[in-house]
Amino acid sequence: MSADESVVVVGSGFGGLSTACYLADAGLDVTVLEKNEQLGGRASVIEAEGFKFDMGPSWYLMPDVFERFFAHFGREPGDFYDLERLDPHYRIFFKDGDSVAVTDDREEMHELFDAYQPGGGDALEEYLDTSETHYEVAMENFVYTDRPRLRDWVDLDVMRAAPIGLQLLGTMDDYVADYFDHPKLRQITQYSLVFLGGAPNNTPALYNIMSHVDFNLGVYYPENGMRSVVDACLELGEELGVDYVTDAEVTEILNRTGGFTVDSAAGEFEADYVVSDADYAHTEQELLPEHERQYDAEYWESRTYAPSAYLMYLGVEGDVEPLAHHTLVLPTDWDGHFEQIFEEPAWPDDPAYYLCVPSKTDDDVAPEGHSNLFALVPVAPDLEDDEATRRRYRELLLEDIADNTGVDLRDRVVFEETFAVSEFADRYNSRAGTALGLAHTLRQTALLRPPRRSSASPGLYFTGSYTTPGIGVPMCLVSGEHTAESLLDDAGAA
Ligand SMILES: Cc1cc2nc3c(=O)[nH]c(=O)nc-3n(C[C@H](O)[C@H](O)[C@H](O)COP(=O)(O)OP(=O)(O)OC[C@H]3O[C@@H](n4cnc5c(N)ncnc54)[C@H](O)[C@@H]3O)c2cc1C
Repeated sequence: MSADESVVVVGSGFGGLSTACYLADAGLDVTVLEKNEQLGGRASVIEAEGFKFDMGPSWYLMPDVFERFFAHFGREPGDFYDLERLDPHYRIFFKDGDSVAVTDDREEMHELFDAYQPGGGDALEEYLDTSETHYEVAMENFVYTDRPRLRDWVDLDVMRAAPIGLQLLGTMDDYVADYFDHPKLRQITQYSLVFLGGAPNNTPALYNIMSHVDFNLGVYYPENGMRSVVDACLELGEELGVDYVTDAEVTEILNRTGGFTVDSAAGEFEADYVVSDADYAHTEQELLPEHERQYDAEYWESRTYAPSAYLMYLGVEGDVEPLAHHTLVLPTDWDGHFEQIFEEPAWPDDPAYYLCVPSKTDDDVAPEGHSNLFALVPVAPDLEDDEATRRRYRELLLEDIADNTGVDLRDRVVFEETFAVSEFADRYNSRAGTALGLAHTLRQTALLRPPRRSSASPGLYFTGSYTTPGIGVPMCLVSGEHTAESLLDDAGAA
């Protein structure tokens, strides 16, 4: 690469940070422009009154992907942060009074599944063995191998993987029902779909690989929270020569003969290439002139967006036993909640939600004698979240937590902040206030996600969760690798 070839990366989520590292490593002059006051995108933090909260991702899953990312630069995660394997992985409180812990102990899990359904333990073994095979096939053929064009799918490896692939085009709901009759076992094996922005009836069965991720690969916590992973990417990028500019919202990307001019709140930047990690719809609809957009407004209107979220970050006095580091609270019939996200958008009457208490594992994220806790309720994108609704929902949620976990937080809150649909839209320029981007429905998976190369603006690329492989920190790190490869391939060919 010629030393003076330059690229501006718009947005500093994991996709942007990863792309920046790969491109700087290849010799480009890289500048990252970030709208907000902190880098890291959805993985921002709130620090106040001795409490520290990861605002977005909190599950460190697929450690193999992080290892692969750092290994490309001759490094490893341990050079930057320590990891603790969590046991239990998480606890689930069902709203009928029952509760279970998903642990590292396979024997214990076998017995747990047997307790709910005769032969449930054997079904779990078979289900997890199959999901391990699916994971290996999917990672090798569809995650680590980029297949942006139809012709990339016509190859021997894909043919070999095809029988598995075809079998996995049905829904997760039907797939899991082949193994488990008991509704709670179905919930345990499917809750992770919420991470992908989907519901059991609209997510392809392929995503049973998440059970291998969860049960077999394990759940980890990076010391000091997910922010440590952002800091690691930043440190690596700085070593490679990446420049980062915060408070630099991009307002226009102009593709002129001889390169791009990028207008931002921090001034005008010239570059040979632009990579956007900002919300794809925002980039296309608001930053590009009409003739350089690949999609019209109708296209974006017709997409299925992943849920938004109602988040409460709470600093509380005392301990919060029996909550685990990760806790899920699930109604025994959760269809109503999914309906109120995807079909009849409304604030969930009987929510399924997630509670995260990092202070259970890490003494440095809350003052002594206190806990830091955040509650996350997936809600429909575009939902009205005015002050009165939020106040009402806060009361509903605190009551629900007390009723179903036995932890009454109501008189113990000493710090509180909420974040919901309108903040996702404002803070991240997120379409419809979605927390995660495009849901992984069948029609929005693999080749059917928007491309990483713009076909309407040569030299413009996309990265992050809207592209392949998709949502989640590990996937966004991989998207950075693929986007950098595409740009470097094109640059080499030019
Ligand atoms: C509440 C929540 C919980 C999650 N939990 C997990 C989890 O536990 N584990 C996991 O792996 N994943 C989780 N995820 C998903 C994961 O965080 C995301 O998929 C990933 O971080 C998205 O990265 P990205 O590269 O797509 O960019 P984003 O993080 O979306 O960042 C895009 C950046 O672009 C910036 N930007 C937008 N417009 C402009 C502009 N005009 N100019 C300049 N900058 C701009 C935004 O400010 C933002 O910083 C969670 C997400 C959320 C929201």
